[in-house]
Amino acid sequence: MAADGMHWDPVMETMDGEELRALQLKRLRGTLERCAGSPFYREWFKEAGFDPAAVFSLEDIRRLPFMDKDTLRGGDPTRFLTVPKDDVVRMHSSSGTTGQATVIFHTARDVEAWTELVARCMYMAGVRRSDVFQNMMGYGLFTGGLGFHYAAERIGAMVIPAGSGNSRRQIQLMRDFHTTAVHVIPSYALYLLEVFADVGLDPRGDTDLRIAFLGAEPHTESLRRRIEESYGVGAFNSYGLSEMCGPGVAFECPAKLGMHVWEDSFLVEVVDPGTLEPVAEGGEGELVFTSLNREGMPLLRYRTRDLSSIVEGTCPCGREHRRISRIKGRSDDMFIVKGVNIFPMQVEKVLLGVLGVGSNYQIVLDTVGAMDEMRVLVEVAGELWHGEVRELNRLRSRIMEELRQEVLVTPRVELVEPGSLPAGEGKAVRVLDEREHARED
Ligand code: AMP
Ligand code: ZN
Repeated sequence: MAADGMHWDPVMETMDGEELRALQLKRLRGTLERCAGSPFYREWFKEAGFDPAAVFSLEDIRRLPFMDKDTLRGGDPTRFLTVPKDDVVRMHSSSGTTGQATVIFHTARDVEAWTELVARCMYMAGVRRSDVFQNMMGYGLFTGGLGFHYAAERIGAMVIPAGSGNSRRQIQLMRDFHTTAVHVIPSYALYLLEVFADVGLDPRGDTDLRIAFLGAEPHTESLRRRIEESYGVGAFNSYGLSEMCGPGVAFECPAKLGMHVWEDSFLVEVVDPGTLEPVAEGGEGELVFTSLNREGMPLLRYRTRDLSSIVEGTCPCGREHRRISRIKGRSDDMFIVKGVNIFPMQVEKVLLGVLGVGSNYQIVLDTVGAMDEMRVLVEVAGELWHGEVRELNRLRSRIMEELRQEVLVTPRVELVEPGSLPAGEGKAVRVLDEREHARED
């Protein structure tokens, strides 16, 4: 791209609203035409009585049913491809387990378009060739690793592909190679502050950090400020989901008044999760995205379950791509611990498979130190509760290990007396979120 100092992609970033809508419609029609060539979508359109050739406005897409994680789960994921299998060069999946994960395929052109989108985001926040970018996100199936990696290289920054964890080494790398920008899960950024203190260093004075990208999990404005102040950086909210590409779907500009959705690439709708009707402009609802610039596996009206709203008015930065507010929560029961998506049903499935587990359980999320902690309280079967301690310890270790394998996060397991957990007549409160970010603003 021919960056102009302010914009990585001046053509797309300075388009006015009207031009953007026209481009969206053109790309939407192209996407629908591509979909119509695939057996899955042909059937999908037929069942909905939808004629992809009869789309003349962006609103016409509302005649299509929504897709969601359930649509994608199960069966052969290649059925969603709109290109021959050989055109696929990469797969990713949503963070979470193999059981629940959804698989997303990319062609070379998709990887290219995605790289450009994330480069656009990073450049907008101020990353340049002279920067040293340390990516502290997990590399692998999770999109936060490679997505940012390619983009930073594209800009010409030097990338340190540190990956997640290994905190003391992260700090060492920052100091040895003068890292100026990082990509980090917000809860991990907080935790790392403690490690800085342990090794007697202050990120403000003892590093060259100036930019932090915060993504992959919900966080509050006050958490952002805390990170900005304690690290001495500008922190930018980065939103994305693997189903749309990964990071690069919506991103904060320096005005930090919401995240610009890159509308040349995604069509965003905000719907009431109950009625599935569009909310009034500016109202809160669930984000629904349609990919407009994906070749391998475009998704139409994909329900994210993420709750947000369109920020009204114009952004001082001049970009007319509409903005969404910070993610306020989820319309399903998924929760995110240390950047990993978890559903209560996964915990339940594990518990049901372990002999000695009683009839009730509860998941409690806390902030301990600065880190998320997931505790699982499990009622034990009556006979075991009154039995040997050794047996109980064995049961506890077994549950912990099986949960770790299923949800990829190591929970603390506490065995409790049968009948001691709240069991009302209504819907059980399976997840108690007592974390700081859940209680703040
Ligand atoms: P994945 O597909 O595994 O990358 O997970 C995507 C999900 O992570 C989104 O649907 C959101 O629930 C969550 N997520 C990603 N980025 C953010 C963010 N900046 N703020 C809040 N939630 C986020
Ligand atoms: Zn802006």
